[in-house]
Formats: sequence, structure tokens, C-alpha cells
Amino acid sequence: MTKYQVEEIEGDTVVSSGIVVENDPMKAAEVTAGQRVSPRALQHHCFRVVDEEHAAVYEYSFVGPDGRPDPAEWMKLSDLGQPTLGHIHQGAAPDEQDNFYTCQICGQPVDMRDLRQVMWHEQPRHEHLKLEVVKDS
Ligand SMILES: [Zn+2]
Repeated sequence: MTKYQVEEIEGDTVVSSGIVVENDPMKAAEVTAGQRVSPRALQHHCFRVVDEEHAAVYEYSFVGPDGRPDPAEWMKLSDLGQPTLGHIHQGAAPDEQDNFYTCQICGQPVDMRDLRQVMWHEQPRHEHLKLEVVKDS
């Protein structure tokens, strides 16, 4: 794995930059872009990947339109359908907090009793889910 500095560039402006650890620079750009990229930076909007260790610079552009979800349009829990309640062996956890784990991908707490949330957070790429208050019927 190599540490890459990935800069997202629009025109002459760096709009974001961060460190991505990946096997190759193209993958590092794809992780940042959230989609496939092509190794040609012909577009106004592109990614520059700097491998400081090997003093190399790569440029990539989007293959398709920027499809990254707008955080203002996060998937709502109810968009995933009706609640699918999982059952915990040996009954509910004694402590409410024990029903949650923290997603390794987006860092959001996931309620293990709701399989919709668990499935959502199983996806390799996803955004936070908007949690809604669910009334027990
Ligand atoms: Zn997640």
C-alpha cells in the first residue's frame, strides 16, 4: 500500500485534498471520486494524485458525471422500505447502547436490530443514513 495525496481540482482551484492509502494511484483517485476515473485529465474537474515517496504525479478525470450524493440528499431510512427487524439471540441487549456498533466506513452508529441499517452499512461505499424516529406499534 502506498500513501497518496489526492487533490480534487476544478479549473485552477484545489477544492479538496486528502491522504488516501491504496495499492495504486488510480484506485486512490477512484476512492476519492466515488466512481471510476480515466487516466486522462482533460476535464475542467480532475484529480491529481501525488506519490511523494516515488516523486510521481498522476492526473485523472471522471469517466461519467459526478455521481457522488449530495450530503443534503442523504438516503432516508424509510427510502429503504419497511422496518426489517432482526432478532438478537438471547433477547435484547440489556443496555440500549449494546444494540449499536459503529460503521467502519462512515462512522455512523448502526442499530443492529434494524437489518435495513445493517445492510446499508454493509455496502462498500455509502453515505450516512438519516435516522428517523420510529414509534413502536
Ligand atoms: Zn456506514
